Amino acid sequence: MSAFRIYMQQALAENGLEDYLAHIEAFAILAGLLQEQNKKMNITAITDDEGIARKHIADSLVAAAELAPGANVADVGCGGGFPTLPLAIARKDIAITAIDSTAKKLAFVAEAATRLKLPHITVLPARAETIARGPLRGSFDAVTARAVAALPVLLELCVPLLRTGGKLIALKGKNGAEELAASGAALEKLGCTAVIKEYTLFSPEPQGRSLVIVTKKGTTPAEYPRDYAKIIKKPL
Ligand code: SAM
Repeated sequence: MSAFRIYMQQALAENGLEDYLAHIEAFAILAGLLQEQNKKMNITAITDDEGIARKHIADSLVAAAELAPGANVADVGCGGGFPTLPLAIARKDIAITAIDSTAKKLAFVAEAATRLKLPHITVLPARAETIARGPLRGSFDAVTARAVAALPVLLELCVPLLRTGGKLIALKGKNGAEELAASGAALEKLGCTAVIKEYTLFSPEPQGRSLVIVTKKGTTPAEYPRDYAKIIKKPL
């Protein structure tokens, strides 16, 4: 068995993700594609077998259990495809729209989706706040986002994309609770409630992680999202 497959098996077993062992061949293909592509252009700083298995794939899969069956999901700022690609491998029942402002990273996601036979991935090279002002506003059951922005900024980028009752699943590190504590005004202005699930990711050393799960309670006021410069300059 290859080194990647051994690391992947360990990462799934150590993190309570055994349900996804059946997809190990697809994860191995994904790791190979990422390593090949990274020789041509910089997609990710994590390129070793163990890092891809643990810090990209296992880390992404933790969000899978939060997605309702058949959910229509947007992954905002998916970069080189995380969590989009592991989620799409593990959850063939969902539809996932991979959103990123960097077209060259999304070209890799599209290529990987074709090679891995994942037709339920759609790529959308654009800024989230631009998409949120167009026809896809209010259309998603769930939005995921990992390593994109601090929570008050992320809320304004992502919540307008959700339907009422939809959920933002923000994959955060050990400071998730702090970010949530700083997001009270943003949650109120955007009509949302939030809970946090803190857990340990073994990668293999234990690392604090959290999922901030935000529920949209009503229609987003038309003024949001503002232009990116304003969002950054004066977060809600
Ligand atoms: N989610 C991936 C991961 O965890 O590996 C990529 C994280 S990378 C640090 C952040 C990504 O968010 C970048 O690819 C960037 O282009 C994208 N991004 C940041 N702000 C964005 C916005 N407003 N709309 C769309 N993409 C955005």
